[in-house]
Amino acid sequence: MPMNRHGKKKAKAKRAAIVRLPVRPVKSAPKCLRRRTRSESGELLRTRAEAEAAIAEARRSHERLREAIDILPEGIVFLDAEGRYILWNKKYAEIYSRSADLFEPGARLADTIRIGVERGDYPEAAGHEEEWIAERLARMHQPGARHEQQLADGRVILIEERLTSDGGVIGLRVDITELKQREASFRLLFESNPVPMIVCALDGERILAVNDAAVEHYGYSRAEFEKLTVRSLQAFDGELPWNGNEQQTYTCKHVRADGELIDLTIYSRRIVHGGQPAVLLALMDTTERRRAEARLAFMAQHDSLTGLPNRDLLRRQMDDMLLHTRRGTDKLAVMVLGLDNFKAVNDTLGHGVGDKLLRAVAKRLRSTLRDEDAVARLNSDEFAIVQRGVTRPEDAVLLARRLLDALADPFLLDEHSVAIGASIGIAVSPGDGDDSEKLLKHADLALSRAKQDFRGTFSFFEAEMDARAQSRRKVETDLRNAIRNDLLQPYYQPLVDLANGRITGFEALVRWPDPERGMIAPSEFIPVAEETGLISAIGGMMLRRACRDAALWPDDVRVAVNLSPLQFRAGNLLALVMDALKQSGLAARRLELEITETLLLEKSSQVLATLHALRALGVRISMDDFGTGYSSLSYLRSFPFDKIKIDRSFVQEVDANQGAQAIIRSIVSLGKGLGVTITAEGVETEAELRCLRAEGCDEGQGYLFSGARPHAEIMALLKAQRGLIGEGDRGRAA
Ligand code: C2E
Ligand code: MG
Ligand code: MG
Repeated sequence: MPMNRHGKKKAKAKRAAIVRLPVRPVKSAPKCLRRRTRSESGELLRTRAEAEAAIAEARRSHERLREAIDILPEGIVFLDAEGRYILWNKKYAEIYSRSADLFEPGARLADTIRIGVERGDYPEAAGHEEEWIAERLARMHQPGARHEQQLADGRVILIEERLTSDGGVIGLRVDITELKQREASFRLLFESNPVPMIVCALDGERILAVNDAAVEHYGYSRAEFEKLTVRSLQAFDGELPWNGNEQQTYTCKHVRADGELIDLTIYSRRIVHGGQPAVLLALMDTTERRRAEARLAFMAQHDSLTGLPNRDLLRRQMDDMLLHTRRGTDKLAVMVLGLDNFKAVNDTLGHGVGDKLLRAVAKRLRSTLRDEDAVARLNSDEFAIVQRGVTRPEDAVLLARRLLDALADPFLLDEHSVAIGASIGIAVSPGDGDDSEKLLKHADLALSRAKQDFRGTFSFFEAEMDARAQSRRKVETDLRNAIRNDLLQPYYQPLVDLANGRITGFEALVRWPDPERGMIAPSEFIPVAEETGLISAIGGMMLRRACRDAALWPDDVRVAVNLSPLQFRAGNLLALVMDALKQSGLAARRLELEITETLLLEKSSQVLATLHALRALGVRISMDDFGTGYSSLSYLRSFPFDKIKIDRSFVQEVDANQGAQAIIRSIVSLGKGLGVTITAEGVETEAELRCLRAEGCDEGQGYLFSGARPHAEIMALLKAQRGLIGEGDRGRAA
């Protein structure tokens, strides 16, 4: 094969030919022209001028054709039937600029290709040049065939060739380098993306491509993917979620190869894939997030210890049930169940056993109920049960009994056999309330009643329970206001030495003067104050005021202040007492603190330590209301009291009841033995006074001597009758 037949000079001339009219038509007129001149005249003779004009005209029309094809964005080439170049445009010359030296009208494409291959213009041919050339030329004769061609400078050209009617070829060349680069970077982005991606046909019927992340995420091989459709990946078949939009986001569930359902957020986008419209799906697996959200939602609605629904969830369940019962004749019974000895179990066996007990209780409750009933844990030792389909109160009674029975058997926990009981309060819709809040509240009130009456039973809600609860709430608000406005004040009731009638001291008793209700008695508000914790504020105020007032009294007159168990629990009682003494300047020996037996019920070491510390200050400690507790005598052993105040209930029977008399006698002798002062509370009559004196009781307190009085009167009383009791009592007491 002759290579480089053309010298350098020749090559230059030929490059010029690209923009010039090919040489051959100039030498002889085109066939058509020759035909026309012949037919017009019918003779061969014609002038040279005519011929030249025709040639000039042909040259101009050729020039116009060239201008027209030069403005096309694609490269165009015309070859004749022998594969020789006739005409090509600028774009074509630009695409094949490396081969420009070979172009020449009349040159054969086959030759330029061969030369190009030999000098490495077509990298794809390397190593199998002959086959490549043969294949390339064969393609020219497949009408409409397209193929891509890689050039040495990296460009990619799309070639499309068509046969013309006279056996020649029109070739189109499109530079698709940029498109190819975009495709390659898409492929890179697709293949190595950590986000699972799928390319599928527009109708979702064929999966055209998947990336590695998708293969790994779904657990299907690529071959398996090819057999699947997007619809078959969906957990719930039916419509494809995309709607033909350019791009779209939606959520759905897919099934993985191992059968597991996954939650997905899918971003879909229309793309062109392999020249065809397709959809790219990028898949974000939200399964874990949804599970975490579900876990959070569960935790927010359930008790973590027992796994039972909490109050919020129960209320929602109840509201649902109530909607249904409203339509029918069935009622709901709402029960609040309180464990009777839970605190004791927690304190003696520890919280670990306490927790196990609660879990075991929850299990027994659940297994006693039908599936349609609901159960929840309301707080530490209270559960709620909602019974459906109640037509008569007896239905609720039956279930309440079953629940109590279920809890009556001892629980075996860590080798401890733990017996606890329970009490139940019941409210029934709609009579006791038609919303969840009211029903729960009323069942709770009924529970308080059940606990009061006799533990281990159940009690139905009654309307007066609600009225009582409401008046308690009113007392609480009013009391808060009274404390804030400093309306509470101490009144003082004298304590009298029964031997000589002298006033030994006064007990400070809180009084609440109300403009509308008059003087409100402590029995009405002290229990509320203890329940709500307001007693600490009241107790602190009483302590300070009593010390301040008593500091004004004669030096041998003491003041007694009542303490609530709650004040011991706060932990700052000792400091409060020391502060009150310091501020007032009252000597510690003149202060008496009265505690009741309930304080010692807990046998707490902290309480005893505080009592000892107070006593070490010089303060006297009295046991108030002695004889009303469960084991009064045993409390006397636990702490060395300075005074015992015999409860009014014994004193008021002392003249008529021999038993009461015997009890007082023995307390008095007990006091003498222990060196403790004995005071009788609530002395109202002369007869009682006589008896108490006869028994040798040290001190008395009661209306017979005086009721509680405001401080202003105490000063007058002490001044006028120092040592004596009220005018009328002077003679008697002396
Ligand atoms: P307490 O400490 O046993 O006080 C004695 C109660 O008996 C006082 O009732 C007093 O007025 C009443 N009383 C006195 N003499 C007689 C009498 O001859 N006959 C009758 N029937 N009653 C008499 P009060 O003032 O209503 O106080 C009741 C309870 O409230 C007190 O019982 C005490 O436990 C509590 N309390 C009063 N003030 C305070 C306080 O400042 N702090 C605390 N923690 N409790 C207080
Ligand atoms: Mg008292
Ligand atoms: Mg008392």
